[in-house]
Amino acid sequence: MNTIEAVCSLIRYGLDTELIEESDIFYVTNALLDTLKLDVDASFHPESGEAHPLEEILKALLDDAADRGVIENGIASRDLFDTRLMNCLTPRPSQVRHTFDALYKESPEKATDYFYKLSCDSDYIRRYRIAKDRKWVTSTKYGDLDITINLSKPEKDPKAIAAAANQSQNRYPVDLLCHENEGFAGRLDHPARFTLRQIPLTLDHEAWFMQYSPYVYYNEHCIVLSEAHRPMKIEKATFTRLLEFLDIFPHYTIGSNSDLPICGGSILSHEHFQGGNYTFAMAKAPLRKPVTFQGFEEVEAGIVEWPMSVIRLDGKDPSRIVELADHILETWKNYSDDNCGIKAFTNDTPHNTITPIARMKDGKYELDLVLRNNLTSEQYPLGIFHPHPHLHHIKKENIGLIEVMGLAVLPARLLNEMEELKKAILNNEDIASNTAIASHAVWAEGIKQKYTDINSGNIDSIIQDEIGYVFAEVLENAGIYKDDENGRNGFDAFIAKINE
Ligand SMILES: [Zn+2]
Repeated sequence: MNTIEAVCSLIRYGLDTELIEESDIFYVTNALLDTLKLDVDASFHPESGEAHPLEEILKALLDDAADRGVIENGIASRDLFDTRLMNCLTPRPSQVRHTFDALYKESPEKATDYFYKLSCDSDYIRRYRIAKDRKWVTSTKYGDLDITINLSKPEKDPKAIAAAANQSQNRYPVDLLCHENEGFAGRLDHPARFTLRQIPLTLDHEAWFMQYSPYVYYNEHCIVLSEAHRPMKIEKATFTRLLEFLDIFPHYTIGSNSDLPICGGSILSHEHFQGGNYTFAMAKAPLRKPVTFQGFEEVEAGIVEWPMSVIRLDGKDPSRIVELADHILETWKNYSDDNCGIKAFTNDTPHNTITPIARMKDGKYELDLVLRNNLTSEQYPLGIFHPHPHLHHIKKENIGLIEVMGLAVLPARLLNEMEELKKAILNNEDIASNTAIASHAVWAEGIKQKYTDINSGNIDSIIQDEIGYVFAEVLENAGIYKDDENGRNGFDAFIAKINE
């Protein structure tokens, strides 16, 4: 495909995906030619393009732009530039919102179906990269846990890292979750958001926006952010906003990372939720034990059969769930229990918080409150209720909302390491002396003892299962009250405190 053919093919793609209409052809083509700094002659007919996969079209255009010196040939420069090209085809925010509103009147599902497809077709979500992610399911005593090795986040090139090191403190947009990112061209140290589109929402009388995550950890993975740039905070209004979101999108689940380091997500600087059209293992987990909260007898409640410590509230009246959730949050924030290693404060620094998750179930609002604590100790400097060191070879990062719900997001490095490890196990090589995979040596020794017959036919599924079991243990580490006598008594004592 030469450059002219690629331009025509991109126009064909725009028509086929309905990003553009026939009447847009020359307007969009001229924008593309200008962006590409490309001259054409009178024989040029943009409407004559053939269909090709988007990845191939963009590769042809990027290679040509790099050859002609229009862009530098690094992955960060290429990602900025192909987003600039795709923006020529992407409808403006106002058009997207008009279409979304019209479809919403038919049904919320139709509106989100449209918006998700647009976010993919515009290449804001790079489907061909997402397709490279590895995903599998491991059955555990907590249900089917989802495991993903995410390969679609591009590796940063050295120029981008250098640019990030020189960034000023007073930048625009302030962070990746500010509303001002909608249509932002990007820089080497800030991904292009030219093709980002957002839908405005009102939650608890405030302006918020819904968009999709470019990395799609699960189906229709959305991000909901406040218009105001302000830090994450778990408070009563959080519960109100989550349940109001369900009034707007009853087919979605929605949750928030907690507001403290170690047990929060990676971005604490801007208040946001994450949700989507996906049923996580946690949502399917039954109650371990029903609980009654005094004064809230109409709210069905209980402790969830889950490796982390979860109180589940179910009811028809959202205001009662919010009241009870707020009472539980305030009690937890001030709660200490030496027997279970829980300390609410060190001087004025709080340690207790909650990761809340909401969904509709059988016509009722369901709110899961996951108890979190971010204490560290000499033995566990990264966190007591955090993956312990013997699991760091698989997962070392914070256990945020998505993991809490039962989906592990594991680093890309694992893929090569597991390939190397499989070879070493099959060839009975010494793993501890191979620096690339030495961190997995103890774990691999346990696997070799557990399975009597490991061969090239079953090793893939064995390794996948064993990674899944590690993830279950990661969640147990992050759980406050362990599923033993001490933990169960401790959980009962906290429930009794709520009822005081
Ligand atoms: Zn912000």
